[in-house]
Amino acid sequence: MTSLVHARSSVLPTYARADITVVRGDGCTVWDDAGRSYLDFVAGIAVVGLGHCAPGPLAAAKAQLDELWHASNLYWTEPMLRLASLLEERFEGGGSFFCNSGAEANEAALKIARKATGRTRIVALEGGFHGRTLGALSATGQPGKWEGFGPLVPGVSFARPNDVESLEAALAPARETALILLEPVLGEGGVIPLEPGFAQAAAELAHEVGALLCVDEVQAGMGRTGTFFAYEQLGIRPDLVTLAKGLANGLPMGALLAGERAAAGFVPGDHGSTFGGNPVVAAAACAVVEAIDAELLQNVRDRGVELEAGLLALPAVRSIRGRGLLIGAELDRPVGPVVDACREQGLLVLSAGPDVLRLTPPLIVDAAQVAEALTILEGVLAP
Ligand SMILES: *Cc1c(COP(=O)(O)O)cnc(C)c1O
Repeated sequence: MTSLVHARSSVLPTYARADITVVRGDGCTVWDDAGRSYLDFVAGIAVVGLGHCAPGPLAAAKAQLDELWHASNLYWTEPMLRLASLLEERFEGGGSFFCNSGAEANEAALKIARKATGRTRIVALEGGFHGRTLGALSATGQPGKWEGFGPLVPGVSFARPNDVESLEAALAPARETALILLEPVLGEGGVIPLEPGFAQAAAELAHEVGALLCVDEVQAGMGRTGTFFAYEQLGIRPDLVTLAKGLANGLPMGALLAGERAAAGFVPGDHGSTFGGNPVVAAAACAVVEAIDAELLQNVRDRGVELEAGLLALPAVRSIRGRGLLIGAELDRPVGPVVDACREQGLLVLSAGPDVLRLTPPLIVDAAQVAEALTILEGVLAP
């Protein structure tokens, strides 16, 4: 096959891409166009939870491709209805709105909260990440990402993660707040898990002031932290949940789940998406939801414990944060060269900030693969 390196300048440079072209994936392994294999502890940034070309979603999507690709949301389709009822079971009530990405799921959350409460203000977290569209970007607590794109959507205040006083301050004037938007583990922001006490205080404050609480589970949901939803470990039941990354194992899909208090916000004509709930993507997502069972969640927790213990034993690792298989290791050095060196040694890993190594392997990763990754990391991080 001819090299396509010359075409790289034809892609707008929104990402600082690594110098490899990925052509194939199977389970926890991907291959580049030179035939080199890599142990994939990125999984498309917490997307390919069941592994590359997972048989269940693959078969479901292939079968659906032969039946119907698209009909539009002017009609019902079976995969979308099946997915909505599977998610309703997991969320224990409410309804779904389907879209194509995490940013879109959060846009839907912002809109439904304003509509349902009749208020406009949003409270989000410093260091949080909710996507690149203007609404989601405005709620993203990383000012560097705003530069050059203002004016942003007005009415957003930020609180410090795990700081209840700061949250109370951000809520004033409380009766104008429509939505509190939280990541259960701040992923892009450095892998910072919310403490249950903080999440519970946020839920109580939201209730007290009549705002809705949305948990952005785009990265942390779909079993990634060892429970189907990450909020299950925080002792709360949010009004809204957003999902995307892992939802269809790599096909593009986002969802907003809305509980009883919030669901009344949307009536026909209020919101929409041409491709949202696409039959092929929804069929794959059904297979993903069905595959996230007690055994898989146990694997997430067990492999997470092994990975954390192995990382902590490395002298270059200062501390470990995270839940399940969403893990951040604070290093004693800049993470960029570590990510590059790991790739050269056949291991794909991520960063989350200047000195945090982030690991988000497929949820199906086994103990031998965890050990292999740790061996490569030990070599790369040797003092
Ligand atoms: C990735 C991410 C998003 C944005 O998802 P896109 O599909 O890239 O739009 C939103 N929230 C969180 C927590 C994320 O990790």
